[in-house]
Amino acid sequence: MDMQVKKKKLGLKEKYAHMTRGLDWQPSYQTKEAVFPYATYEGIKVHDWDKWEDPFRLTMDAYWKYQAEKERKLYAVLDAFAQNNGHLGLTDARYLNAVKLFLTGISPLEYMAHRGFATAGRNFPGVGPRVACLMQAVDEIRHSQTQIHAISNYNKYYNGFHDFKHMLERVWYLSVPKSFFDDAFSAGPFEWMVAIGFSFEYVLTNLLFVPFMSGAAYNGDMATVTFGFSAQSDEARHMTLGLECIKFMLEQDPDNVPIVQKWIDKWAWRGVRVLSLVSMMMDYMLPKRVMSWKEAWEIYFEQNGGALFNDLARYGIKMPECLSRASIDKEHASHQTWSILYQYGGAAAFHTFMPSDEEMDWLSAKYPNTFDKYYRERFTYWREQEQKGNRFYNNTLPMLCQVCQVPMAVTEPDNMLQISYRESDYKGEKYHTCSDGCKQIFDDEPEKYIQAWLPVHQIYMGNCFPEGTDPTVEGFDPLAKVLEWYHLVPGKDNMDYNGSEDQKNFNAWRGLATKND
Ligand code: FE
Ligand code: ZN
Repeated sequence: MDMQVKKKKLGLKEKYAHMTRGLDWQPSYQTKEAVFPYATYEGIKVHDWDKWEDPFRLTMDAYWKYQAEKERKLYAVLDAFAQNNGHLGLTDARYLNAVKLFLTGISPLEYMAHRGFATAGRNFPGVGPRVACLMQAVDEIRHSQTQIHAISNYNKYYNGFHDFKHMLERVWYLSVPKSFFDDAFSAGPFEWMVAIGFSFEYVLTNLLFVPFMSGAAYNGDMATVTFGFSAQSDEARHMTLGLECIKFMLEQDPDNVPIVQKWIDKWAWRGVRVLSLVSMMMDYMLPKRVMSWKEAWEIYFEQNGGALFNDLARYGIKMPECLSRASIDKEHASHQTWSILYQYGGAAAFHTFMPSDEEMDWLSAKYPNTFDKYYRERFTYWREQEQKGNRFYNNTLPMLCQVCQVPMAVTEPDNMLQISYRESDYKGEKYHTCSDGCKQIFDDEPEKYIQAWLPVHQIYMGNCFPEGTDPTVEGFDPLAKVLEWYHLVPGKDNMDYNGSEDQKNFNAWRGLATKND
């Protein structure tokens, strides 16, 4: 008689251990150091990789099933949106300029995040982080794909959506988000995890995705809302991974604490500078506004971020000092950034415009300490000039910060009459940065930042013209050539929204959709 042996079922934790730790092996004909050359040079000491916990214990099998379900829903919404001319349900085509900024400035970064996590996963000797990085690498490529698909529908009807990848690598203000990721990608795997896994995902994502997605919802953009939800549901995992990595480093060795603190300081500040673009999007680019930049900063950074740093205090981690400046800058960031983009709207990959009277009243109410005092008059003047046919475009090129690459048009926190800039000397050359935060980053690794590809310097060096351009011919127009090299069509993709093709088309189509003509 056969004995019936009851098979013991494995618990989730054991099953997961078999599929991850159990599949790892020790190299035999190469040393571990040779296989993982980047694991140690940043100075992070790890004594026991098995202490790394994967809070989600996600298997590939479960991952594909869950993500496939989300994809099906997302693409059903995108189809419905496209087939029902969803774009005509937007509040106003002015809104699409925020989407253009997102597509050119953010979606390609998702792809960079994909590459970065794949690389970090390859470089970590531990199994826990390797598996977690693999999952996130797959998430990130999905994010870039779904964003491009969702937004591609607008490319059929509106200008400026045609060449985002090309633009990311060339257009001046896009070097702000691009240099952030280039800096992270060219760092070691642990710094990458602090830069993207922690600062970007944990501290900044809420300030980027939540306002963008609620902005989309408020303005009738169901396509963007849906990819936002699809991506946001991965974010919980990403944030946990970033925080897990920080805690792991801090718990492994006390020598890691100052290194991690330095990275947190650096990446918090770099993140704040990238967020300048989000601040102007929230306060100036949405026809229907969600909340002011200042309010978003207070809720998502000062409150939520504050709680996070209280949690990290037990490891000896302090809130980055540079962030106290950000809490003064929150009163100015959006107004100053929008002023830059408005003036240089002749070289931007989207349309700019001055706020209406009602919008200025909203800004005064949201910024009672600064808007009327410093900005209303300037904007009213620019608007009057535009109405008289003298729309102001700045034709000079601004100096850029060597680190964050934001044009130096931001004022000192305590002096509105003084542009904020700092100088460093290195190997007989002067380098300029926009703030103490950026100067500190530069001085810490000058050899890295002197290599920065600064769009303005590159234009002056003649590196931003189409091949075969002869700048010595009579009547040479450098701006026109730079725009050609950007793949921007002057007057169509850029300049003021008022009078643009996008504005005319949207109004005409919307008219056809709502009444007999
Ligand atoms: Fe992502
Ligand atoms: Zn800077």
